[in-house]
Order: sequence, then C-alpha cells, then structure tokens
Amino acid sequence: MSSQGQPDHDHQPRHELHNASVDESVAAAGACAQVHLPTGRVCARPQGHGGSCDFTPPDQAPTAGPERN
Ligand SMILES: [Zn+2]
Repeated sequence: MSSQGQPDHDHQPRHELHNASVDESVAAAGACAQVHLPTGRVCARPQGHGGSCDFTPPDQAPTAGPERN
C-alpha cells in the first residue's frame, strides 16, 4: 500500500466557453448548440445569437450531417 494518496487536483487550464455543455455536432452545423443539461435539449439558434437560448429536442436540432464518428 502506498502511503501517499494525493488526489489529482491540478488546476488545468481548459477551454471554458460558457461553462455549459455544447453539442459538438450541432455546433458544427453553425448553431449555438448549448445543451440544457436538466432536459438534454440543445439550442438550435445560430451561433452568437442574441437573447436567450431556445432549447430544442436533440432530434430536432440541426447537425453537421450524417458523418458521425
Ligand atoms: Zn443558444
């Protein structure tokens, strides 16, 4: 047993957009793509839109196309 149990608490700089999740495939389609975590809906409005997000069910949101990995 190792006596040292240091957790990884490094402050790693990472991309922080809005601290919200973004659906990458929807964002690739040019949409705002912010995900409303409690509902799983995604904003289908254009990137940089004014006002508040308009969350749409994921199956109705635009995506970059059928090419998904
Ligand atoms: Zn939005």
